[in-house]
Amino acid sequence: MLLVSEPILGDEEKAALAAVVDDGWITMGDRVRRLEQAFAQAHGQPDAVAVSSCTAGLHLALAALGLGPGDEVLVPSMTFVATANSVLHVGATPVFVDIEGLDLPLMSLSDAAAKRTGRTRAVILVHYAGYLPDRERWRAFAQAHGLILIEDAAHAAGVTGAGAIGDAAVFSFYGNKNMTTAEGGMVTARDPATLERIRLLRAHGMTSGTQQRLTGHASGYDVTALGFNYRMDEFRAAIGLVQLARLPAWNAKRQALAARYHRSLERGGLERGGSGIVLPFPEPRPSANHIMPVLLPADADRTRVMQALRARDIQTSVHYAPVHRFTLYRERCPGVSLPLTEEFARRTLSLPLHPRMDDGDVDAVTRALAQALVQARPVPCEETPP
Ligand SMILES: *Cc1c(COP(=O)(O)O)cnc(C)c1O
Repeated sequence: MLLVSEPILGDEEKAALAAVVDDGWITMGDRVRRLEQAFAQAHGQPDAVAVSSCTAGLHLALAALGLGPGDEVLVPSMTFVATANSVLHVGATPVFVDIEGLDLPLMSLSDAAAKRTGRTRAVILVHYAGYLPDRERWRAFAQAHGLILIEDAAHAAGVTGAGAIGDAAVFSFYGNKNMTTAEGGMVTARDPATLERIRLLRAHGMTSGTQQRLTGHASGYDVTALGFNYRMDEFRAAIGLVQLARLPAWNAKRQALAARYHRSLERGGLERGGSGIVLPFPEPRPSANHIMPVLLPADADRTRVMQALRARDIQTSVHYAPVHRFTLYRERCPGVSLPLTEEFARRTLSLPLHPRMDDGDVDAVTRALAQALVQARPVPCEETPP
């Protein structure tokens, strides 16, 4: 089965895990600190804080930046539910914003401007599929209205510019992301004081850690804020250090595969005009190419297309069901209508994209998709038997 994504783990990760067992120090030690520094450096940041997940990191970032009840936070609906959940977790209100267009499924700046009120305090940008939003335009918008900008960079590890847009940025190391620690994440922040606040809240609001006390760098601790346990452990950090070193080559491979998809789909006459397929992100922009979404023709039966591909051992997936349509959000934020997000969500299909694939796999998926679309074509009325 050709999977939509799969983690790449091997002998180096095994050796790194074994080394932690041999060392015997298993939580919040040198490896966590080294991963923070290496990750920060890879993203042009002075420092970073490792966390137990991107979701935890988003919660920490919002809490550290002082968001809470009464505050509105602009969020896209075309994202994983964790983006909006983090807003609810601090007691603030998510306000859903539409996408720019069917071929640009990033949060719309004009719709964000339209949804802004006197209570709006922050914006969470999601680097959907790994593509970065326009830094200058969003920063100008945030500055003009005194808004905090947060990046949900779950899809964008390793892209130059990710982490340099917002006041804070949060990355995910979940099993299907571009680099993984099984579960895990990383937070960066523009203001060192914000990052230190995030570091404090990560571990119960305690002013020192176990290792610092053991090594004599601290004798006791105080608790100065209501924090959480969102720590990373040494096993995860050990895997993360290996994965981070491999990330640039993997992202380069993803970029080449995505380019191959574009050429292959165009050659097959699938893109635009031809069959009604739309390829998002036609213009070049920095990307980690985390997923490969295509929009099926408006009248295609997506479930049948997915079944036909599965019968050829090709897994596909949908990124994402729009968050505002989930029961929880219909109840909490009723009456939201986002026409572009809803159409994108209805038609999008994520094709396999991961560094274990080769050009032959891409061409095979393209051919299978073309055939599946023919099979799943709606039957015109004239052709139905009497
Ligand atoms: C995966 C993902 C998250 C959550 O990441 P975890 O590390 O699993 O908590 C958040 N936002 C987006 C856009 C994601 O894709």
